[in-house]
Amino acid sequence: MRDLILPHAKRLVIKIGSSILAARSAGLRLDHVQRLSGEIARLKQENREIILVSSGAIVAGIGKLGLKSYPQTLPLKQAAASAGQSCLIHAYESCFQEAGQQIAQVLLTHEDLADRKRFLNARHTLTTLLQLEVIPIINENDAVSVDEIRFGDNDTLAAQVAHLVDADLFIILSDVDGLFTRDPRRDPEATLISHVTEITPDIEEGANTSQSQESRGGMVTKIQAAKLARQFGVPTLLLNGETPGLLPSVLTGSEGGTLFFSQGRKLPSRKHWIAYTLRPKGQLVLDPGAVTALTSRGKSLLPSGIVEVKGTFAAGDAVSCLDADGKEFAKGLVNFSSDVVAGIKGRRTQEIAHEAGTHEYEEVIHRDNLALLV
Ligand code: GLU
Repeated sequence: MRDLILPHAKRLVIKIGSSILAARSAGLRLDHVQRLSGEIARLKQENREIILVSSGAIVAGIGKLGLKSYPQTLPLKQAAASAGQSCLIHAYESCFQEAGQQIAQVLLTHEDLADRKRFLNARHTLTTLLQLEVIPIINENDAVSVDEIRFGDNDTLAAQVAHLVDADLFIILSDVDGLFTRDPRRDPEATLISHVTEITPDIEEGANTSQSQESRGGMVTKIQAAKLARQFGVPTLLLNGETPGLLPSVLTGSEGGTLFFSQGRKLPSRKHWIAYTLRPKGQLVLDPGAVTALTSRGKSLLPSGIVEVKGTFAAGDAVSCLDADGKEFAKGLVNFSSDVVAGIKGRRTQEIAHEAGTHEYEEVIHRDNLALLV
């Protein structure tokens, strides 16, 4: 099955983790940037399309600015990222140039993808770069990202990019060999899992929560990112990026790393965007009848099925739909603000047809704007 996917994947999103590219004490690890740039440029020459998502700005900035330890405050992290990003892209620029490959820098915030127009715009920019045979190198725009507009970690950002560009394969290069049956640092019996057909709760719980200071994500964010990509039909390969030659050899069929298969049913892009890119501004708790109508009968959400409204949102915002146990099972774009929904919840459509602010739509969330979470 790996053979059916890896050699044939044309459009690759490759995420490179901080620890591979930079060390706090020494700054950028130029030898690693150079080796990986060479390997990736060759993949490109072999007719693959490549989009890189590269971390490493903060750690490179620590070395450049001579900071004594990993910055703890947001402004200092942002300053380090901004100083480090120019080093990082400069290193890529010269290493890729040596390998005869053009690159381009793209810095994104969550807001760039949370607005559908900007999302489509970013897609056009990236696909145009690919048509021009350029490798885009993306990082979060850390210098201006505060909590509300941050992706938070590059595993999540890269998974969103895999969706954005409709990748055939999402590759996460880090300093671990892949997913193991147990924690290999503590258990010598642990074995590498070659492929994962389903991301079970066991896998999620077993993901090691430990996280190095060099990067924002640990195994947990990698599994979450693989899950996100999977919902859009994109398989994820988790691979050690420190082993020379491993990336090209695994892509031509050798064993190595862990491949997470994608699920057959692919969410359409707009629904994936509603479900996984947008951040919900509020929650609607639904009665069991409405839950069944939405999950099994493909219906829209009507006011009568809503039991409780939580949070403050405006018409057009994304909200989560919860069942009576508080489990989130869908996300959608609401037609009304939280105040209006609070006034019409639990009521029948005929009763409220003439009330102010409610006559434009019958449904609170139209099924076209509703994405079921799987
Ligand atoms: N954007 C951060 C950087 O370039 C890294 C975030 C992460 O490690 O996930 O340093």
